[in-house]
Amino acid sequence: MIHKSVNEAKKGTSGCGSSAQQQQHIKQQEQGEMMKQALKKIKNKLFVLSGKGGVGKSSISSNLAVSLAKKGFKTGLMDVDLHGPSIAQMFGIKDMLNMAPGDKQLLAPKQVMDNLTVVTIQALMQDKDQAVIWRGPAKTGMINQFVANVDWGELDFLVIDAPPGTGDEPISVAQAILDAQAIIVTTPQEVALADIRKSISFCKTVKLKTLGIVENMGSFKCPHCNESIALFNTGGGKATAKQFGLNFLGSIPFNLEVVKSGDSGIPLLTEATDNEFAKNFETIVANITKQL
Ligand code: ADP
Ligand code: MG
Repeated sequence: MIHKSVNEAKKGTSGCGSSAQQQQHIKQQEQGEMMKQALKKIKNKLFVLSGKGGVGKSSISSNLAVSLAKKGFKTGLMDVDLHGPSIAQMFGIKDMLNMAPGDKQLLAPKQVMDNLTVVTIQALMQDKDQAVIWRGPAKTGMINQFVANVDWGELDFLVIDAPPGTGDEPISVAQAILDAQAIIVTTPQEVALADIRKSISFCKTVKLKTLGIVENMGSFKCPHCNESIALFNTGGGKATAKQFGLNFLGSIPFNLEVVKSGDSGIPLLTEATDNEFAKNFETIVANITKQL
């Protein structure tokens, strides 16, 4: 069903006439019911977002999902960055998603490790380099299908990786998953902070509970002299959290291994546990889970 939707959205077919509209309406009602049923089985929905691109949303979503899965929580990771999906690359997913066994209507999310399954648009496209050129309704429809038509099963956590900004995708998630809780990611410099102030306002407007702010790429330890360098300034995430009365969840240093691991398809936390990145990340996970 989702494979078909991807093809239809690419062609822009939507049907016409009143009977087509009626059918569409019935389909939407059915889908709404399926979404409700699917969401009932998922205890916590964590929505990772930011006003800005390139601040580390996908890296943090991936590592957060891995960390939760390693702790024994049944975890799903849903990539709703339809125009710039990174999750397939970060987990080395190359093949297409299959249908779930036994039920022709549902798609099987990709099992990437024990306790962790993933869905991304990238695993639904034949041509991985093809641009997704969709308008709002097609994007909303796809995100709804990511919930309704995927066999997520019983989950402790669903981590949702958003595109930058406050456009169609975050709005669709906020409307579809009313109990989603936001984790806002920023880098410390003012140009990023200006954008996350919009994310904070977005969450308030659409009534998404915000768990707090993560500051990414705050400091960098020089591999030659071991001195700490504030690449993009430092402390901006914490100051913004304080300004808006939000929790500061923690900061993650700039670490060259994050880049390598993201490109190689194995998120850093899958293997490494004894470094500054892993330690700081653990603090963040603890600060998230203690609020749930
Ligand atoms: P976003 O999803 O916000 O666009 P990504 O997670 O794709 O951001 O990160 C953008 C780039 O920055 C990627 O190449 C990623 O590997 C890198 N990156 C993210 N976080 C860190 C970090 N803490 N240290 C070093 N590089 C990072
Ligand atoms: Mg991303």
